[in-house]
Amino acid sequence: MLFFPSNCLVCGKRLHSPREILCFECEYKMPKTGYGERGDNPVSRTFWGRVPVVSGTSLFRFEKGSAYQTVLHELKYRGNRKAGLYLGRLLGHELNHTSFSRCDLLVPVPLHPGRMKQRGYNQSEIIARGTSEIMGIPVVTNLIIRSGHHRSQTTMGRHERFENVFEEFTLGSHPMDINGKKVLIIDDVITTGATLEACSQVLFTHFKCQVYAATVSCA
Ligand SMILES: [Zn+2]
Repeated sequence: MLFFPSNCLVCGKRLHSPREILCFECEYKMPKTGYGERGDNPVSRTFWGRVPVVSGTSLFRFEKGSAYQTVLHELKYRGNRKAGLYLGRLLGHELNHTSFSRCDLLVPVPLHPGRMKQRGYNQSEIIARGTSEIMGIPVVTNLIIRSGHHRSQTTMGRHERFENVFEEFTLGSHPMDINGKKVLIIDDVITTGATLEACSQVLFTHFKCQVYAATVSCA
């Protein structure tokens, strides 16, 4: 059992409740994108001309060296699932009462099987669980799967790396029928958008569905 200090992950101030991750002030000052319903926001625009994602959004903007990145870091590298649930809940609050709230299911981007073994959990799934708590939308984890074979990315060129992402995702072996459904894909970060694009393509190949995308952080 791991214990995490009950201090704000951003400013270090002592917290009142073990459920909290950030103090009230730091949560308030989070550099949120506020993209909400804005259809032409930078995250949505990432998909334009590539894949017909209805709408995309992120909770906060990635700022290099920002203390807010440490919250994601805690989730990804220090086993702090509570931080992931917390971020997921914040994302849920942002998306509630927007068009995203009409989605039928939340689909976390799957993790490489190898990394899953190493880490013991999928950080995107933890985030999705937090989001689900707030939005009341079920999390579905067996719709898209990620293949185990994974070539070293460092030896590849940019284009090759991009292609590689597409090979990685396939439909799960017993997927539910999502024809006519609205699917919200959840990931921790969006940079090039290639991962979310690849996941969307898997769904579009097999179903007539609508796809939305939301992440905690965006570059
Ligand atoms: Zn604080």
